[in-house]
Amino acid sequence: MLESKACKNHKISQIFSQKEIAERLEVLGKEISKDFMELENPVVIGVMKGAFCFMADLVRNISVNDPLQIEFVRLSSYGSATESSGKIQTPYLELPNISRRNILVIEDIVDSGRTARFFMDYLTEQFHPRTLKMACFLDKPSRRAVDYQPDYTGFSIEDLFVVGYGLDYAENYRELPYLGELSLPD
Ligand code: 5GP
Ligand code: MG
Repeated sequence: MLESKACKNHKISQIFSQKEIAERLEVLGKEISKDFMELENPVVIGVMKGAFCFMADLVRNISVNDPLQIEFVRLSSYGSATESSGKIQTPYLELPNISRRNILVIEDIVDSGRTARFFMDYLTEQFHPRTLKMACFLDKPSRRAVDYQPDYTGFSIEDLFVVGYGLDYAENYRELPYLGELSLPD
């Protein structure tokens, strides 16, 4: 494995390069474009902060009949540790009236599935969407604690702690253009 960066005693080993990510997003964008092509006024909701890179790149790979409306929420379930707290916090959950719209949610990673389950249920109850789908950059199916299956997945990965391309460790490394596995010193 290519070692990409070492700082603060953290070792980051590249898993997917910038080019591999870009290539995968082209395919994913086409798939989403096909499904959303005819849908009226689609709304894309990015889940901050982790999804910011994925969202920015993905929407530029989506081409559909109607223009996209872009919205953001901020949810968090990880503290600064590498284990999910299991409790979902909602630091920013302001959305305009998007009742009965066609919605695509963009997430960084589905791990236990709790955040995704919470937010999809929330949107369903609040807005009764006509269409409600989720695109996640990463899926860790082996970690699932609640029943949830994303509609579109960039990459499925093993049970590793990853950083880069929007994903952080204690608010660090989001800016890395690639995805890497973070190893902490023992
Ligand atoms: P879930 O609710 O599915 O357990 O967790 C989802 C959230 O946990 C993600 O949106 C992400 O913020 C965080 N998370 C889960 N796995 C990882 C990981 O490997 N790396 C990082 N940086 N965050 C993760
Ligand atoms: Mg997240």
